[in-house]
Amino acid sequence: MSRPLRVAVIGAGPAGIYASDLLIKSGEAVSVDLYEKMPAPFGLIRYGVAPDHPRIKGIVTSLHRVLDKPEIRLLGNITIGEDVTVEELRPYYDAIIFSTGATGDRDLPIPGSDLPESIGAGEFVGFYDGNPLFERGWNLQAQKVAVVGVGNVALDVSRVLAKTADELKVTEIPDNVYENLSQNQATEVHVFGRRGPAQCKFTPKELKEVDESPTIEVIVDPEDIDYDAASEEARRASKSQDLVCQTLEGYALREPQNAPHKIYMHFFESPVEILGEDGHVVGFRTERTRLNGDGTVSGTGEYRTWDVQAVYHAVGYRSDAVNGVPFDAERAVIPNDGGHVLDPETGEPITALYTTGWIKRGPVGLIGNTKSDAKETTDMLLSDWREGRLPEPAQPGQEEVLEFLEKDKGLAITTWEGWYRLDAAERAAGEGEGRERKKIVEWDEMLKHAGPQAD
Ligand SMILES: Cc1cc2nc3c(=O)[nH]c(=O)nc-3n(C[C@H](O)[C@H](O)[C@H](O)COP(=O)(O)OP(=O)(O)OC[C@H]3O[C@@H](n4cnc5c(N)ncnc54)[C@H](O)[C@@H]3O)c2cc1C
Repeated sequence: MSRPLRVAVIGAGPAGIYASDLLIKSGEAVSVDLYEKMPAPFGLIRYGVAPDHPRIKGIVTSLHRVLDKPEIRLLGNITIGEDVTVEELRPYYDAIIFSTGATGDRDLPIPGSDLPESIGAGEFVGFYDGNPLFERGWNLQAQKVAVVGVGNVALDVSRVLAKTADELKVTEIPDNVYENLSQNQATEVHVFGRRGPAQCKFTPKELKEVDESPTIEVIVDPEDIDYDAASEEARRASKSQDLVCQTLEGYALREPQNAPHKIYMHFFESPVEILGEDGHVVGFRTERTRLNGDGTVSGTGEYRTWDVQAVYHAVGYRSDAVNGVPFDAERAVIPNDGGHVLDPETGEPITALYTTGWIKRGPVGLIGNTKSDAKETTDMLLSDWREGRLPEPAQPGQEEVLEFLEKDKGLAITTWEGWYRLDAAERAAGEGEGRERKKIVEWDEMLKHAGPQAD
């Protein structure tokens, strides 16, 4: 065929960018339009990864090399399913890949979770990472805070709550975030897990890092270091889990450090209720659990009340449905067979629709994992193309779809060149303060740099 394979990738997070890269490296002539709802690309690298993780944020540098390639065109500030429907896009492409990731929080279904100081971790992350769709101000009056969940997001939230604002000022945090964090009263953060050290989801490096700040001391009660046969097996099977257990044992056994901010890690405590008084959080109730021998736990009937004034729940992110695309509401993923989007009625693949990343398999795993996801999906797509299973689109030209988006839909599209301008503006804003960058939060201001009027 004389024209290139035309693919629309929806969502410019790591999964969408890796999928685009794999397609254009496939040996076929491929042209990708990478759609993104935000004015800037990079998904949760920009709006999830914590600001004091510059090494991870630096993955953007390698993604830059992908987006610099002429076969990929970034079309930002467009929400597929709202600004443009999937059916409207279909005539312009041979195939569409959905890589829309996740932004919301899974619920913590216990009484009291509707109190104002009971907060999803994702809300707080959206605030401190300067996502324009989230709050600009944050109530940080609580001196003692509970964080429910024992994964890396719980560590991020605990660390940001326990660090001083000045420790974070060297990062890219915007002014409103610095000002709010300067008011932070928290001196104790209590992290709660239902099961034990061998079952928690921390990764070793992140668990060690949380204790590296001179203002933070991590404390573990030696009583919470407990393993059953399945726990021992889990440690033998995973070097990473074993390292996590060793680090927690180290925290449990050492002398007090007298750092001004403490992060207590509590295991075998199952959330029961967030306690309220006059409409505000005044405590958190848990039930002590014990291991059953197979790595699961059962309640002991022994309850504890913790004196806290805010409860953050880091019990998982949740993906949203894209209008016009099947969605498995229970698992919060697009139903798929490892790549093809499946029709929920028939269980059969829907021609030319694919999915990858967190929206494909759920919100677990690191950025690197989205690469293998993308490989599986793009292999399916390319095989369908080579075998002639993709119908001919009506208008596969690059210009035709742009005209539709700009003229018929009247959309203000942000571009890759626009990202360079926004990037330069953020770097310039940081430079005066001796930092690498300072993030621009407001949507309009991002558009001012990255949008069409600056072209
Ligand atoms: C708080 C937090 C901290 C993390 N920290 C780390 C870390 O330190 N190291 C690490 O390796 N991993 C980390 N991760 C995991 C990492 O962010 C994910 O593995 C990765 O971002 C998933 O990639 P994705 O492309 O599937 O989704 P996302 O990164 O969510 O990207 C999806 C993109 O799709 C866009 N989009 C959504 N809907 C639409 C639509 N309708 N139309 C157009 N565009 C749309 C979104 O705006 C977004 O840009 C963290 C995750 C979280 C939540």
